[in-house]
Amino acid sequence: MNLSKSKYCLGVTCKKKLWLETNKPEVKEEENGQVLLNGTLVGEYARNLLGKSVTIPFNKDLNEMINDTKKYLQEDNIVICEASFNYNHNFCSVDLLKKEKDSYIIYEVKSSTSIHDIYLDDITYQYYILKNLGYNVIKTCLVLLNPFYVRHGEIDVKKLFKIKDVTDTVLEKVKEIDKNIQDINLYMENKEEPKSELSKNCKDCPYFAYCTKDLDSNNVFKVRYMQMRKMLDLYNKGVTSFPDLLKEPINPKFKQQIEFTLYDKEPYINEYKLKEFLKTLHYPLYFLDFETYQVAIPNYDGVKPYMQIPFQYSLHYIESEDGELKHKEFLGEVGVDPRYSLAKRLVMDIPVDSCVMAYNMRFEKMVIRELASLYPDLSDKLLIIHDNIVDLMVPFKNREYYTKEMEGSYSIKAVLPALFPDDPSLNYHNLEDVHNGSEASSSFVELEKLSQEEQDKIRNSLLKYCSLDTYAMVKIWEKLKEVTKEKVKIRN
Ligand code: SF4
Repeated sequence: MNLSKSKYCLGVTCKKKLWLETNKPEVKEEENGQVLLNGTLVGEYARNLLGKSVTIPFNKDLNEMINDTKKYLQEDNIVICEASFNYNHNFCSVDLLKKEKDSYIIYEVKSSTSIHDIYLDDITYQYYILKNLGYNVIKTCLVLLNPFYVRHGEIDVKKLFKIKDVTDTVLEKVKEIDKNIQDINLYMENKEEPKSELSKNCKDCPYFAYCTKDLDSNNVFKVRYMQMRKMLDLYNKGVTSFPDLLKEPINPKFKQQIEFTLYDKEPYINEYKLKEFLKTLHYPLYFLDFETYQVAIPNYDGVKPYMQIPFQYSLHYIESEDGELKHKEFLGEVGVDPRYSLAKRLVMDIPVDSCVMAYNMRFEKMVIRELASLYPDLSDKLLIIHDNIVDLMVPFKNREYYTKEMEGSYSIKAVLPALFPDDPSLNYHNLEDVHNGSEASSSFVELEKLSQEEQDKIRNSLLKYCSLDTYAMVKIWEKLKEVTKEKVKIRN
């Protein structure tokens, strides 16, 4: 087959993945990780990294791109973006190619801050093609984002990027390329679907559900928080079903998940521990949740690549034991750095003597610490809020309250429906437009592209989504109180 950079990299990661991508793309699951916002801008900024450059425009007819490249390569010194080549049915476009007289340097741009193995395969493939076409490639470099770069004024591309010379690794890896290409081509000749060979590369693969479809619905890969390496060891030994797993020496928490599912067990409630946890709380009680977005290219002063930018929070609160549930919220304005206004409102909204509840508090604490370091005038109050945070996730993480419906997970998205299966007001699927954190981030960043009417609608959806996050925490806290009281009553 005709290979490209992306196809080669897919084939090196897993040949079955390339086969499915080519022959059965419909079985792929939707990928819903953190959305990379403004990732395409990375390539655009990188074009200025080596000074003046020319760009080969994209053309469906790859020969056009190759011919355009040849014309530019007649010059002695030049930087070409998307310089395109074909060797023996292997095509590549080089992100940045620098020509100095008869020497060439390949630069592969990545919107990441660190090197991943697959980047090395990618750049080695390009080196292989150019070398075989007779070009004197003297160096190969990866261009990565510098995680320590802080924007002040205009973007400084020289500081935004860091260049890593990976020539030595490429010279080693290129020895394997002929065989890799041959193996991939041979594999792709299969008309019948080849068997899946599961490996560490399966983690987060969008074909994973398809490749494991013949296993029991309750199988080793459903054991929450077990390491992939351990799962694969068991799978390769033929231990895949829940009953078989119970015969293995595995962590008691994994056993608990399996036994609850297999034997349809009643909820486990450690009344003593839950009461201990509830005793650590006091009024006024605030339930806090932030929404943030991350951008590859810093969009405001004081922002680093991939820094979490908080743009919204929701606060449900109860001031005293018999007080009513109240709500406050903040949502940043379109096209404006939201951080200072958010921090200022937060310290006004949460009194210093409050107990602040978050679910998975590491995140909320990290956001508050960053705000405190940015704004010295608010720092003291922010750090008081920080120190007052209690984590509502703890009783679930410690399995002091566990039901089979949680399926081993202590994430709020698993705990909430397990505790409130029939409450439509707590069902994220019933929300409009925004149903999860990724959608919230991308919706907020995209707001400025919308009409006023559309903006109002999305802003309303954002408020409802974030409000549900803290309302869910209130309901979970109430449930903890309810189950501990019920147990006391039974004992008396
Ligand atoms: S799940 Fe694993 S075997 Fe299947 S395509 Fe993905 S990486 Fe390959």
